[in-house]
Amino acid sequence: METDHEPEKIGSSRRTLLTRSAAEAAAIIRRGGVVAFPTETVYGLGADAFDENAVAKIFEAKNRPPDNPLIIHIGDRSQIEMLAEEIPESAAALIDRFFPGPLTVVLKKKDAVPSIVSAGLETVGIRMPGNEITSAFLKECGVPVAAPSANISGRPSPTDWRAVQEDLDGRIDCILQGEATEVGIESTVVDCTKPVPEILRPGAVSIEELRRVVPAIRASDLDADEAAASPGLRHKHYSPSAAVVIVRRGSEIDDLKDSGFIGLESSNSTAAKALVCSTPKEYASKLFAFFRECDRAGIAKIYCEEVSEEGIGTALMDRLRRAAER
Ligand code: AMP
Ligand code: MG
Repeated sequence: METDHEPEKIGSSRRTLLTRSAAEAAAIIRRGGVVAFPTETVYGLGADAFDENAVAKIFEAKNRPPDNPLIIHIGDRSQIEMLAEEIPESAAALIDRFFPGPLTVVLKKKDAVPSIVSAGLETVGIRMPGNEITSAFLKECGVPVAAPSANISGRPSPTDWRAVQEDLDGRIDCILQGEATEVGIESTVVDCTKPVPEILRPGAVSIEELRRVVPAIRASDLDADEAAASPGLRHKHYSPSAAVVIVRRGSEIDDLKDSGFIGLESSNSTAAKALVCSTPKEYASKLFAFFRECDRAGIAKIYCEEVSEEGIGTALMDRLRRAAER
């Protein structure tokens, strides 16, 4: 059913509709609006990928630098052909194994994909989210949906709809209210345009899992390659207002009284805000919400315990390092 909620003009202050109806949210996308929606990784901020004006509103709402490309979210595998010029064998194997799921494949883009989406690159990142509400929403949209994370640029990605509201209320047309996200950190991005596919951004799917499908896959040296391959990674990411300090596992911290602590060991649980997790997976899923909780409490420094770089730990350490950059 169509609603009377009309997407408003770029730049105007707008009323942000809250809804639990995927159909209602999708109708707004079809009318050229911008909608925040849950996925299994983090909440995304979506618009019709073929509508340049709608996509421009995403950049404006987030204050996102124009050289940071968006990932296109699909509800159906057949949409890949609308977006990608070719699907190399390695990409086909990854798609077979990981779609739907938290993996983004970068492919050579078709001309039909507006350059605002790819930030001027000749490639496009494509992903098919796996959870039920997202898949219902994307199917109702009927068009591929370009979507970065639904936060103000630089801030931690939102893992629940209230975090989206905190950053974007009055700046977007609608929030599709789902549950808190399961994974809590973003998708793994793999560049499949090279002879040997390369991980541009570590994420929810680990390199170990990827190598079971494409053994040769490379973990890119992000420092050297990022500017050329994935301009968005250059920008500051995932930062709370508080300073983030990474500490060795089990180290005992002195000035805990006014600080935050998140990690796997209980030795620092006397911090003003402390979250001790039982697994790296739980740590990853709760990290961004914990950052926001500390900011709300006015905490100035958050200590984050290091984890070993295997499985989800690689992506978790990547996010911690970026959050710790000043
Ligand atoms: P976000 O959805 O906010 O996590 O941002 C999407 C990220 O995906 C970008 O910052 C890039 O790192 C990566 N990405 C998206 N599209 C491409 C592409 N065509 N080539 C390389 N990286 C991409
Ligand atoms: Mg983001």
